[in-house]
Amino acid sequence: MPCEVAARFLILYGSQRGQAQSIAEEICQQAAEHGFTADINCLSNHEIRPVVFVISTTGDGDPPDTAQKFVRKIKNKSLPHNHFSHLHYALLALGDTNYANFCNGGKTIDSRLQQLGAKHFYATGHADDGTGLEVVVDPWIEGLWDALKKTFSSMATSDQQDTDLSDCTQDDFHKNASGQEKYKSDLEVDLHLLKLSETDSQKGKAITSDSIDVETLSTVLVASLKQSVPLLSESALNVPALPIMWDKYHFINCFYYTVPSDKDGYHEVSISKAVQLTQDDAVKTAISLELDISEQNLAYQPGDAFDILCPNRASEVEELLLRLDLQTQKNCAVQVNLLKNSSKKAAKIPLHIPQNGSLQFILTWCLEIRSAPKKAFVRALADFTQNSSEKRRLLELCSKEGSADYNSFVRDANVCLLDLLRAFPSCLPPLSLLFEHLPKLQPRAYSAASSSLQHPGKVHFVFNVVEFPARPEHPARTGLCTGWLADHVSSILRPLGTVLASERLGTSAPPKVHVRPRPSGTFHLPADPSVPVVMVGPGTGVAPFIGFLQQREKEREANQEATFGETWLFFGCRHKDKDFLFREELERFAHNGTLSHLIVCFSRDEPDAAGTVNRPTYVQHNLSLHAKNVASILLKDKGSLYVCGDAKNMAKDVNDTLLEIIGNELQIDKLDAMKTVAGLREEKRYLQDIWS
Ligand code: NAP
Repeated sequence: MPCEVAARFLILYGSQRGQAQSIAEEICQQAAEHGFTADINCLSNHEIRPVVFVISTTGDGDPPDTAQKFVRKIKNKSLPHNHFSHLHYALLALGDTNYANFCNGGKTIDSRLQQLGAKHFYATGHADDGTGLEVVVDPWIEGLWDALKKTFSSMATSDQQDTDLSDCTQDDFHKNASGQEKYKSDLEVDLHLLKLSETDSQKGKAITSDSIDVETLSTVLVASLKQSVPLLSESALNVPALPIMWDKYHFINCFYYTVPSDKDGYHEVSISKAVQLTQDDAVKTAISLELDISEQNLAYQPGDAFDILCPNRASEVEELLLRLDLQTQKNCAVQVNLLKNSSKKAAKIPLHIPQNGSLQFILTWCLEIRSAPKKAFVRALADFTQNSSEKRRLLELCSKEGSADYNSFVRDANVCLLDLLRAFPSCLPPLSLLFEHLPKLQPRAYSAASSSLQHPGKVHFVFNVVEFPARPEHPARTGLCTGWLADHVSSILRPLGTVLASERLGTSAPPKVHVRPRPSGTFHLPADPSVPVVMVGPGTGVAPFIGFLQQREKEREANQEATFGETWLFFGCRHKDKDFLFREELERFAHNGTLSHLIVCFSRDEPDAAGTVNRPTYVQHNLSLHAKNVASILLKDKGSLYVCGDAKNMAKDVNDTLLEIIGNELQIDKLDAMKTVAGLREEKRYLQDIWS
């Protein structure tokens, strides 16, 4: 590596939920170890220099919101074909083969950059979240450094490097991708056992100057911590896994990293209301929450979402500790070091593991212990499995031939680490393995189901309590965040149409939750209220449209002279009398004209007395029945179509129906209909907020 070359490069990422961003940050962090200086930037704020792109895919194969502006710029037809002829770049595309248009976010940018004369200095990587991003990401990053070295040395000898350098390193990349060595941890984990006795807690004693017992120490530390970090509130400090540390410095240090704070944009807010929207015998239980955000002054628009932080279940953390033989060390401070003779060049301590957090705290708040172990993790677990037939089975699962088996046994069965440890009793992995392989515990996003015009100082959400039935691999359980929220609000939860005594009297302290606004780039009502809108939102997918309609209702009240475009809502649920969410409110909107058309279908109700044949059961059937109006709104009136809800089936089926509607209306074939629909997307008149 010629040191005289300014070995500086730029990493650009386009990230929807932070995954591409954290991989880009990982590359940035490793760059220094390899003698490079890397700058990192979001595509929404880019410069053009030698570049490493990390691009995720969202929606129906779209680049993420933060990459949209960049994509629009590079798609500009007036750009000359050699616009990027001086750009050398590498691109890592992220996607999921369970969805159509795999890695399309990255592919779109890659092909356009090529058209504009940019050159690869390293083969593009396509990482599949369906089988484990790391299978491609890790070797891709490992191969990147040599590719960069070659690029920078070529640049040193020639100012004008016109050769496509991707071939130089493609082999390295594929070589890295194949062949796994026996697992060697790159981390070393020390547990400092803290005996909170007078003799062992000299530093603690210095703070309290009293005799030390756990309670006194923690009370005093909490008090001094609150002075130092005033944003921490009582309930943040009273989390069940509160780490007991041995001096103020470490205590603060630990908290600083682990308790959500202003720094991460989180706010602790009260849950002022929780209402069960469905009957007890409904297929799914939907709950609506009202959060009081008045003190924090949080602003949002209908269509925006909020991130909610939730901890892992205490019982699962306990079981994991027990299973790993670490029960007695749960309050120990964890110190993670990188092994000097680490096997991988790219080894690093994961950023989401705080130094000196307690073991219980880390397992509760920092690691996604419910995630399905990726193949690389399963492979590593096999190395810590004594019993030879168990070991063989684990190796089978992560082999190339065992892909279908892995999918059905692990991924589709929602199997987590604890389930694997139950199924493979002779497996006893070290903590370092968990720290290396368990991903960061991510917040869960929920769409706002309210408008602040209608509910000042409040935001509403709605969610179904996700239920995973018992399987041979695991007992029945609820979804991590939805199950936690349901338990968390159980003291104030009331059925629809009733008022809880404590709510009337306002006596008991409300439960609290940490939230962070997640504004949507595009999923908002048109700025011009005369533009007609079609909304499709079955089940809890109706959430953002409740916000839209509350907003419209208030705007109509405030401005009776203004022209408001037609508003159509296609809603679907299973049973009219069990899970027709927001029924009263939707009927009010229809009654007072906020909604010009409320079109509802029930997928599991018996046909009515008239025995209607072929009645619509799903939202897309109703869309077909109203095809003329839908087509006219989109094609003639320049209206907008919004779809919210399940990504895997509903959104795809609605898209197919839309293609049919447009094809029939314009008398064009499917390919041309697809182009028309792509045009609607480009114009931001076909918007999706879909979740899997
Ligand atoms: P759901 O499971 O999607 O069911 C709602 C209705 O849609 C049911 O009548 C169901 O019928 C029907 N349905 C099933 N397959 C369909 C298909 N292919 N096309 C059209 N309709 C179909 O409702 P949900 O449980 O409330 O889930 C909604 C989705 O929205 C979830 O993925 C959720 O994550 C997401 N979401 C939630 C929020 C939020 O803020 N909470 C926001 C946005 C999106 P059958 O069951 O009878 O087949």
